[in-house]
This record gives sequence, structure tokens and C-alpha cells, in this order.
Amino acid sequence: MTVRHSGIGMTSQRTRARMVERLREKGIKDEIVLAALNTIPRHIFVDEALASRAYEDISLPIGYGQTISNPYIVARMIEVLRGGGDIGKVLEIGTGCGYQAAVLARIAREVYSVERIAPLLGKARKSLRELRLANVRLKHGDGFLGLLEAGPFDGIIIAAAATHVPTELLHQLAPGGRMVLPIGSSEQRLRVIERTAQGFRESDLEQVKFVPLLQGVA
Ligand code: SAH
Repeated sequence: MTVRHSGIGMTSQRTRARMVERLREKGIKDEIVLAALNTIPRHIFVDEALASRAYEDISLPIGYGQTISNPYIVARMIEVLRGGGDIGKVLEIGTGCGYQAAVLARIAREVYSVERIAPLLGKARKSLRELRLANVRLKHGDGFLGLLEAGPFDGIIIAAAATHVPTELLHQLAPGGRMVLPIGSSEQRLRVIERTAQGFRESDLEQVKFVPLLQGVA
């Protein structure tokens, strides 16, 4: 495996381990999630000029007006998605640079990720190939529609904020499955929706800040 920017000390395994320690201090408890974040090099998902900042708990620009989510929120969403149990098939809406998809690939059996901006998806594909993650499938499309042909999913993560819960995605959630998503515009809340035998159960988690979920492809 060729590791880009490997000469930079800031991108070493030790730096990554420190990032994971800080996430633990910020309240992430799921050791499976922390271990996954420890194995995925975040610096290969950002431009070389930003690589030295890749292990700070901040979001960073990835082009096309989009950002890579901060490591805390990636960890938190996956922790909630898992709910302490194993996950089979996951759908992510908003691949962006592909970092969260890579972390999910270490945790779920199968990962599907949909992105509306074609050139971003191309970059994500390259980074994921570099990591030789064989259980991730990327699709260019409008996440509002989900991915009917691959569903139903045990987990759905939306990495951009919608003003309302996308109905089509609720239909693609398997019974017993969970969807984690930010809802709102200027004020956003992270929510989890569980599909039970009786219907859907929604819980409010915490305040968050995401780019908006937009209709259509680009
Ligand atoms: N998962 C990324 C974060 C991506 S930011 C990470 O690992 O850091 C959110 C992404 O959602 C952006 O790339 C944006 O283009 C995408 N997005 C917004 N609306 C979308 C939609 N309707 N369908 C698919 N992707 C969408």
C-alpha cells in the first residue's frame, strides 16, 4: 500500500492514537468505533496542504463547497448507529471525501454510500481504493431517493442536514434498523430513528452543524 504524505510526522499512527484519546475524553465510549477510527488514515482524504491538520477535531474543506466532518461527529454518529450491536448493511448519504464510509467499512459488513457531486465521488473512490476496502460501494445519485436496489438497510447515516426526514429513506430501513441524521437549517439537531415492529421511534441527541442536504445531482 502506498501511503500519501507519509513523510509528514503529523500523519503518523501516534498522532491518530492521540486523536482517538481526545474523542474518548469528549465522551465516545464504543471501543469498536474508536478502534476503527484508529485504523483509518484521515489525512489521505484531504488535500496535501491540509494534511498536517487532519487529526485535529475539526471539519476541513474538501472542495465544491463541502467539508469532511469532524472526527467527533463521525464517531458519534456511528456509535449511535451501532447502539452496541453489530451492523450488517449500511447506507450513507453524502459520501463527500469518503472518510466516514471508510470508517463504516471497518464496522459494517456492507457499506453503500451515495453522493450527488460526481467529481467528489471520483476523489472518494480513489482514496478508498488506496485503502483496499472491498466492502464499500459508491453511487452517484440523489440521496433523498436512497438506494432501493440495495436495501433494506440495517443502518442509514445522513451526513448532510435535511429540514425534514426523507420519507423514501424511512421505507428503506429494515425492521430493527436505525437511521442517524441531522435535522434543521440554521439550528440543527442530531436525531436517531429506530424502526420497530410497531412503527418508528425518534429520539433527539445533540446540537450539530452540517452542510445542507440538497435535491438532485451535480
Ligand atoms: N461523509 C463525509 C461528509 C460529507 S459532507 C465525511 O466523511 O466527511 C456532506 C456531503 O453530502 C457533501 O459531499 C454533499 O455533496 C453531500 N450531499 C448533499 N445532499 C446530498 C444528496 N441529496 N444526496 C447525496 N449526497 C448529498
